[in-house]
Amino acid sequence: MSLGSCWPALFALLVLAAPGPSWAASPLLELDVELDPGSRHIRAVAFLRPELHDFRFELHESLQVGSASANGEPLPVVAAGSQGSLRRWRVQLPARMDKLRLEYAGTLAALDRSLDHRHVLRGLAPMASAEGSFLPAGAAWYPRPGAAFRYRVTLSVPADQRALVPGTLQSEEIPAGPSGRYRASFAFSHPAEGIDLMAGPWVIRERTVPIANGGPVRLRTYFFRELDATEGLAEGYLDDVRRYLERYADEIGAYPFTEFSVVASPLPTGFGMPTLTYVGAEVLKLPFIRGTSLGHEVLHNWWGNGVRVDYTRGNWSEGLTTFMADYAFKENESEQGAREMRLGWLRDYAAVPAGAHQSLADFRTRTHGAAAAVGYGKAAMVFVMLRDTIGEDAFRRGIRAFWERHRFQAASWDDLRTAFEKAAGTSLRAFFEQWLNRAGGPEVKIADATAKAEAGKIRLTLALEQSAPAYALRLPLEIVYPDRSEMLWIGNDRRRDVETLELDTLPRGIRLDPELRLWRVLEPEQLPPILRQWLIAPAPRLALASSVRDVRAAASSLASRFFESPPREIAPEDSSRGDDPVLLIGLHADVDSALARANLPPRPSSLAGRGSAQVWTADAKSRTPLAVVSARDAEALRALLRPLPHYGAQSWLVFEGARAVDRGIWPAPGRLVPVRSR
Ligand SMILES: [Zn+2]
Repeated sequence: MSLGSCWPALFALLVLAAPGPSWAASPLLELDVELDPGSRHIRAVAFLRPELHDFRFELHESLQVGSASANGEPLPVVAAGSQGSLRRWRVQLPARMDKLRLEYAGTLAALDRSLDHRHVLRGLAPMASAEGSFLPAGAAWYPRPGAAFRYRVTLSVPADQRALVPGTLQSEEIPAGPSGRYRASFAFSHPAEGIDLMAGPWVIRERTVPIANGGPVRLRTYFFRELDATEGLAEGYLDDVRRYLERYADEIGAYPFTEFSVVASPLPTGFGMPTLTYVGAEVLKLPFIRGTSLGHEVLHNWWGNGVRVDYTRGNWSEGLTTFMADYAFKENESEQGAREMRLGWLRDYAAVPAGAHQSLADFRTRTHGAAAAVGYGKAAMVFVMLRDTIGEDAFRRGIRAFWERHRFQAASWDDLRTAFEKAAGTSLRAFFEQWLNRAGGPEVKIADATAKAEAGKIRLTLALEQSAPAYALRLPLEIVYPDRSEMLWIGNDRRRDVETLELDTLPRGIRLDPELRLWRVLEPEQLPPILRQWLIAPAPRLALASSVRDVRAAASSLASRFFESPPREIAPEDSSRGDDPVLLIGLHADVDSALARANLPPRPSSLAGRGSAQVWTADAKSRTPLAVVSARDAEALRALLRPLPHYGAQSWLVFEGARAVDRGIWPAPGRLVPVRSR
């Protein structure tokens, strides 16, 4: 599995779903759970007060109800059929009753480490093993007292294990010796839709920190021994969690919970739950996770778990979380980094086949790439456009008001719209309607630009065209003068429109949205070639520029590692013919002469002479898609075997051995429409 630079692109992050309106009297479930991961045996006692006297509930087939009682009197429990891996049970409750007591037990399935993240997404059975146990909220390992409920859970595991569920830690007993048991109690006092239980042979690190405008927060890592022993890793996570909590408490409002834990999983999961994130141990080791996905997960405690999603008109929480975490971190780094992320969203959208587009209002969770392009990319871009429209201040006020008004409730896109409308003092109905309800996006272009000198001024007339039916847009335009350029925004809501601008000097040309601030179908000129187009090509071709045996062998192994489909070998002279992507590999001098012989663009001067190997995609103007790997020697080629396939998002790279010392995407500001003088 290849790893991208941000975790939502790899693992779906399931957030506890919306349990409807918050009501004070949501039912309470109390659970006492004894779990022995080694034998996979679980024994539980549940106390609850069901709403109906004919109480029916479901448990996973690995669990058997042993007894039921109320008011100290035993009650008969009958099996009432099954569906898939679930068994239905039924108890008739007495008319007057304090609590129903249910005792159940069973042997859980063994943890299946072969599961990849796609499996992990599709409802799991409750699983246990000494190396880690995961009983997902949706796996029916407890009886539900209602659709949404509060809970108190007491957990008991052997001395070498630790266990937790989302919520506030109420008490904890650390065993004195190996024969004792670890016990911990948790309470969750807001309506939740389910309970995830996790256990593992973890080392716990803890820090309690004050967070601005809120109470102290207990931060923890639950790491496997080896992970915990990694120099500075656990402490680094605690530092970063604290930094994110401070950041979002400041931007949005006080942190809504009393703890946050980073919990290591033996599975390649990436789950976000209230008060914690449960993440594959292998993922936690990746250096970029703390700077990206961790912040995204922490922010889900506000968006998704703090304000829950009312799904009636789609899921806004992934878009807002991506915008305020992943995207905001890029903005903090550089304008260029933020532009590259917007380009990535628009590129993913451009790759979705026509007809497969989904509207944002139809997005629920990511199930495939096309859904992610909308639910994460387009939704985040809607927030970019919204902030551009109403301004930074109104946007911030809208965010804070939305939080203040809806925390611990379910809210919809309409509630977000209302909050931003109040903050901006203007109707945003048309804006939200078109971006939420329409699938796809507009195609926009400047058809013509003419200028005329008039009374010492320049009258610039722009003919603008949009695909039908037209969107109401604010278009960013770059007015390019011989010595400088300036940005201005104009409104455009018709299929064909003529705009007139008054300028002081004659511009050379006009460029539409060079910074990619608009959700739209990009022109080919704005999609610079990146290596992924070669990686995933269905019929790639390979041209070997060097004849030395050692070099050819290294080049062939690199190609077979790089392409997803096996490449067909061609002569280097044929690199400029045909439509299927070509990868040309060789030593520097051989590559240069092969490019010259095939009449192809030469090595970019920005790369020449750098590192032990250079990789680049040729300019989009050449008809045959060409990418080149040029190395100093066979050793330098072999060094690319592992790293190169991970850089699909780049147009060019410079390697020193196996390390990418520089990389980037070719600049592609879009077509400069020349200004004609009249
Ligand atoms: Zn997310």
